[in-house]
Amino acid sequence: MNDAIQLSIVVPCYNEEAVIQECARELRNCVAQLMQAGSITKQSRVIFVNDGSSDRTWKLLEELCEKDRLFSAIALSRNFGHQSALLAGLHAASGDAVVSVDADLQDDIGIIEEMVERFRGGYDIVYGVRKERKVDSVYKRFTALIFYRLMNLLGAPTVYNHADFRLMSRRALDALRDFREVNLFLRGIVPLIGFPSTTVLYDRRERVAGETKYPFRRMLKLSISAITSFSNVPLRMITLAALSGFVIQAAVAVWVFWVRFFTDRAVPGWTSILLPMLFIGCLNLLAIGILGEYVARVFDEVKARPRYLVAETRNLFTSDE
Ligand code: UDP
Ligand code: MG
Repeated sequence: MNDAIQLSIVVPCYNEEAVIQECARELRNCVAQLMQAGSITKQSRVIFVNDGSSDRTWKLLEELCEKDRLFSAIALSRNFGHQSALLAGLHAASGDAVVSVDADLQDDIGIIEEMVERFRGGYDIVYGVRKERKVDSVYKRFTALIFYRLMNLLGAPTVYNHADFRLMSRRALDALRDFREVNLFLRGIVPLIGFPSTTVLYDRRERVAGETKYPFRRMLKLSISAITSFSNVPLRMITLAALSGFVIQAAVAVWVFWVRFFTDRAVPGWTSILLPMLFIGCLNLLAIGILGEYVARVFDEVKARPRYLVAETRNLFTSDE
């Protein structure tokens, strides 16, 4: 596979007027270099997705597209959020492989070349992974660490220190279309696609200009959406709490009976109120836990994720051949 590939680069933008031109300039250089080196074709494109910006982002994008055929742009009808904007771009992108990258150039687009090399070496998904988070604030590093730890603890597969800077092959993108869930957390879904995947390391830079579009409120929302769409563990914890409740309750019951029958400290009515109260509390919790299990099943069904994805076949003909 030494032929040049057709590459699309997808860039979601939300109120990025401060960085858009710099971003376009750098991407243009990067693409030109790759074209020169013969690793990507002249049909390769950069696709900006304007995620309902309220500043001049769209105006600037229109100008860019006017001047340069390399650039194309999609405007969403309102702000749908980073993940949805990214998906819109991935759906619209043509080509053999698609790289997604943030508009703020925090991710080192210099490694796109290596990503393309890996793709040509047979990998379908190439994750860009930050080497270290030197430039990020202690606060951002700490919240990220908690998040990745928690996700792994809850059994949701995510690639540590990987944001949404990645290359995906055409067949991986086609597979992504089969995931129809509305609460989209791409970092969780992409590992579920399977196919050969690898990582490329890079140093994360500071934002070129503008400010983060992920304040704490949004990060929390993304984390909650990620956890609730990828893990049933929180629901199962209710059952666990109920079962430990029963054990504790049994121990308390022994003590209560002892006080009732072997001491004279028991106030009349104490035993007959305390024991049913503990028992019914645990019973309630157990009932909620059981309901939770069914809710989890229903949730899995409505997500309607593909039950399998085929990588290749041999000597298997479809009916229209
Ligand atoms: N973004 C978007 N829609 C949003 C929020 C962010 O398209 O509602 C884009 C944003 O323009 C940027 C990328 O998502 O290209 C990542 O956002 P940001 O750099 O602010 O996040 P951070 O790197 O601070 O986590
Ligand atoms: Mg950023």
